[in-house]
Amino acid sequence: MDNEEVKWPDQARCAVMLTFDLDAEITWLNECRSHPHGERFIKTPSLGQYGPLRALPRLLEILNRYELPATFFVPGWVAENYPQEFVSIAEKGHEIGHHGYTHERFVEKSTQEQRDIIDKSQRIFEKLIGKKAVGYRTPSGDWSHETPKILNELGFSFSSSMRGDDRPYRTIIEGKETDLIEIPAHWELDDYVQFAYSYFPAEPVGQGRISSHEHVYDNYRREFDGYHRFGLCYVLMMHPQVIGKPGRAVMLEHLIQYMKSRQDVWFATGSEIADWWRSRYEGGKAGK
Ligand SMILES: [Zn+2]
Repeated sequence: MDNEEVKWPDQARCAVMLTFDLDAEITWLNECRSHPHGERFIKTPSLGQYGPLRALPRLLEILNRYELPATFFVPGWVAENYPQEFVSIAEKGHEIGHHGYTHERFVEKSTQEQRDIIDKSQRIFEKLIGKKAVGYRTPSGDWSHETPKILNELGFSFSSSMRGDDRPYRTIIEGKETDLIEIPAHWELDDYVQFAYSYFPAEPVGQGRISSHEHVYDNYRREFDGYHRFGLCYVLMMHPQVIGKPGRAVMLEHLIQYMKSRQDVWFATGSEIADWWRSRYEGGKAGK
C-alpha cells in the first residue's frame, strides 16, 4: 500500500489507540534483583504499586467520562496479584492484552519458554475474566525471531510492539504475509520515556528528566496533529503508574478533549483496528 491514503471506518481521518501497560511493581522488582539486598527494597516497588491501586481507578474514570475504549497490556503476575483491579478493567469494556508473565524479555527466552509464558498468563486471564488475550505487546524491549511465529500459531490477532511504521501492517513470517497485524507504537508517544523516574535504582540510568507537563503535552498534541494530517494510526503508550499521577491525568484529559474536538477521529481498541486492517488491506512488513 506504500503511500496510499489509509481509509478508516466512517470516513474518519485517523485512528487513535489508547494503550496502558499495567506493569505495577513487577518491573521494579525485576530491576531491584540486580542490586545488593534489592529483594528487600520497599520504596522502589511502591512506585509501581501506585499504578493499579491509585492511578487505575482515576484513569478508568476519565475513559468512562469520555466514553473511550482502551487496550490494557497486563503481565499475568499483575493480574494474579491485583485480581479485583484487573477484573475492573475488563468490566468497563476495555481490551486486555498479553504482556508476559513477569514482564520477561522474550528475546532471551527459548521457543518453548515463550510458549509457556504466554500459556501461563492466558490461563490466569481465562480464570479471571473468562477469555484469553488476542493482542500482545512485548515486555522489556525486544522479542526473538520466533515470537511473531508463535503468536500467529497461537491465534493472536495483533501485536503492538514494533516501531517501523505509523500504520498497521500484516506481519511477514517466513516470507509470507500473515493475519497477525502489527500496530506499531513510538517512543515519542511513550510516557515512560518522558516522565518515569526513580532515584535508586536509577531510572533513567544517568538520571535527568522529570519532563515538563507542558512540553510533553505539546509533543503529544503536535504528533496527533501530524497523524491526523496524514491519516495514520496514533498509538499512545502509557503506564498507569506514570500517566495516572494527578497532574498528568489532567494533562491526558486535556489531550483527549483536544483530540475529541476533531469530529473525524476513530478511537478504537487493538482488536478493532486489527480487524479493520485485515478486512481491508494486504501488504506486510517483516517483524524486525
Ligand atoms: Zn511493560
